[in-house]
Amino acid sequence: MDYQHILNSIQTELSSTPYTGKVASYIPQLEKIDPKKFGMHLFCINSGHYNFGDSNERFSIQSISKVFALTRATSLVGNELFRRVDVEPSGNPFNSLVQLEYENGIPRNPFINAGALVISDILISLLDNPKKDFLDFIHKITGTTTIDINIKVFESEKTYSHRNAALLNLMKSFGNIKNDINTVLDFYMYQCAIEMSCKELSTAFMIYANGGKRLLDGEQIIPSRKVKRINAIMQTCGFYDEAGEFSFRVGLPGKSGVGGGIAAIHPGQYAVTVWSPPLNPKGNSELGMYALERLTTLTGLSIF
Ligand code: GLU
Repeated sequence: MDYQHILNSIQTELSSTPYTGKVASYIPQLEKIDPKKFGMHLFCINSGHYNFGDSNERFSIQSISKVFALTRATSLVGNELFRRVDVEPSGNPFNSLVQLEYENGIPRNPFINAGALVISDILISLLDNPKKDFLDFIHKITGTTTIDINIKVFESEKTYSHRNAALLNLMKSFGNIKNDINTVLDFYMYQCAIEMSCKELSTAFMIYANGGKRLLDGEQIIPSRKVKRINAIMQTCGFYDEAGEFSFRVGLPGKSGVGGGIAAIHPGQYAVTVWSPPLNPKGNSELGMYALERLTTLTGLSIF
């Protein structure tokens, strides 16, 4: 497969594709990003790296971090994890409070904010230094130790943390948050503020495409049976309340973030990341989704 040729075609097509999406503005620091940024990086298991555009520039990974948090939690806890967070699509916006009230404080899945806050709470209970553990994990799966948080994004999100604090308070009232609310909020926002490039995200996501093994040396980072579950949750819950549309148009498991990134995998084939900041009304990168749709169309490969 000539991936570079396919990526070049996608780049050419995108340069003349109009968009109506808006860069996320609820975190003031994110709004400052140039909406014209666009990068794509595909890491193929058999043939290596392909890319174009701003694929080496780091951006705010935001909710893509929820996949790494779930991975750490599933490595440390068994199936009892899924007594505190379910695995069903929510059909609601990422920060919705309503479902939690009538579902007794059990979030629908680990990729909506409520679910990721429970995962953060679990990691805080289990780890001495959850922030360091989290960054160490990302360094390990990427082989890049310079990956860090953007402190301005971290501080900026604090000005918008009321809804996440509300989710935490509601879940604590049901007994599903064990630690101090501000500690959980702080760790959650820390994860969202991590910056990575398309290349670094594709390298990290290779463990999900490669049965839990780091490609570099074959080290089994997580058991393949756990990867199977994480990939299933990415497929059904990875795109806010647009996971069905993403499956329909693209047909790959993945996760998006409000920073405009989407990381996706084709199990056994490749990991791919796109970055384009303008978001569609559901919160997914508009051109990013389009680029991935073109990728699965032009390669004739998707998981379906
Ligand atoms: N920092 C974000 C929030 O909780 C994460 C948003 C996202 O990427 O979905 O509001």
